[in-house]
Amino acid sequence: MGGSDETFDIVIVGAGPVGLSFATSLAQSELKVAVVEQNPLESLANPPFDGREIALTYASIKILRELGAWDAISASDKSPLQGARVLNGSSPFALRFDAPSGSGEPLGVLVPNCRIRDALFKIVRLQDHARLLCGHSVMDAANSHKGAVITLSDGMQLSARLVVAADSRLSVTRDLLGIGADINRLGNSMLICRVRHERAHRQIAIEWFDHHQTIAMLPLAEGVSSLLLTLPSNEADRLLACEDDLFLMELTNRCRGRLGRMTMASNRHSYSLVTTWAHKFWAPSAALIGDAAIGMHPVTAHGFNIGLSAQKQLAHGILTAFRDRRDIADPGMLHRYESWLRLSAAPLYYATNILVGLYSSEHPAARLARHVGLRFGQYVPFVRHGISAMLRR
Ligand SMILES: Cc1cc2nc3c(=O)[nH]c(=O)nc-3n(C[C@H](O)[C@H](O)[C@H](O)COP(=O)(O)OP(=O)(O)OC[C@H]3O[C@@H](n4cnc5c(N)ncnc54)[C@H](O)[C@@H]3O)c2cc1C
Repeated sequence: MGGSDETFDIVIVGAGPVGLSFATSLAQSELKVAVVEQNPLESLANPPFDGREIALTYASIKILRELGAWDAISASDKSPLQGARVLNGSSPFALRFDAPSGSGEPLGVLVPNCRIRDALFKIVRLQDHARLLCGHSVMDAANSHKGAVITLSDGMQLSARLVVAADSRLSVTRDLLGIGADINRLGNSMLICRVRHERAHRQIAIEWFDHHQTIAMLPLAEGVSSLLLTLPSNEADRLLACEDDLFLMELTNRCRGRLGRMTMASNRHSYSLVTTWAHKFWAPSAALIGDAAIGMHPVTAHGFNIGLSAQKQLAHGILTAFRDRRDIADPGMLHRYESWLRLSAAPLYYATNILVGLYSSEHPAARLARHVGLRFGQYVPFVRHGISAMLRR
């Protein structure tokens, strides 16, 4: 693998929240790390609001705290989630999830994605072990048991003992490494914006599976929520393009006045929904993390939570090998990482996909199953408590 312009121990492709967390996790070592990002440095230094409010579990908050990122996020950007209600069509019945009484702790905390990226970027920038190469995309990758070489868009070649792909669910690096993936394009998009509204949200989130649409209302500051509307992509495109007044009118109608009168509190963002599961999470001298490994449907709000714990697991394997003077791309260690990730993420990934299938179908059998499912969940306490515990994991 000679002839490259520069040599690193680890090259991370993608400076999203998972790539940046991974770079931060490696900071305690003397490993020479590069982070390659296609976007320019300015957009990492000042990440724009992208509509996503990430529901963080306790495990994620603990990891972000260990990385030094949690305290770097201001309190006004942290919105506690005290409960959630799941509604089906026009039925008044709601499946309820509440923070355990007396614990004083919420179910989770919502933080804007851009604030997480911002906090992590500032930490990586201050560390000298990681070099940021922004404004470059990966154009080619070659790997063998001896190491990997990646070629950037300006022709520069970087060689590394280990290349780690963190370049999103449609990862180019994953393709270049010859790792296949199950990619499921759902034909739906999620349209997101913040709204100010009359009625109090009491820090309770609402997930409402209505006919031909799903609406989530995530409670932020007092009188402000993030609205997430899942629709067929052509419908979402139409709403994304229309004037603010028309958009608000349609949003209010679709929400059937649940939040009272609304005004816009942010611009609109749209994400076409794609779920992915890579066939392997490693290859010789290479590994996948974050959405490049598993791209979850956002409805159960776990993509980043899974990515964050996976990067911690991989970093632990690498740092242990490095400390013991073993190979940091040892196939046995990468294989253990893969098994751990499969085992911990598969139940949630497949359960989420079943839920999405059930709740986006208008077939009478699916409607009946939704109705029965919600009541079953409410009256069989271990289901409700199990899900609450999972959210607080
Ligand atoms: C609407 C929505 C709501 C969500 N809500 C939640 C939630 O509540 N809780 C939760 O846990 N998760 C949630 N998620 C999922 C979460 O946003 C993702 O799991 C997380 O962003 C994945 O981070 P990542 O770093 O792996 O990838 P990304 O965030 O996709 O970042 C990838 C980075 O790689 C760069 N890149 C891409 N290709 C290249 C290339 N060829 N060369 C160089 N750089 C490249 C990109 O520019 C980007 O910076 C949500 C997702 C969506 C869409």
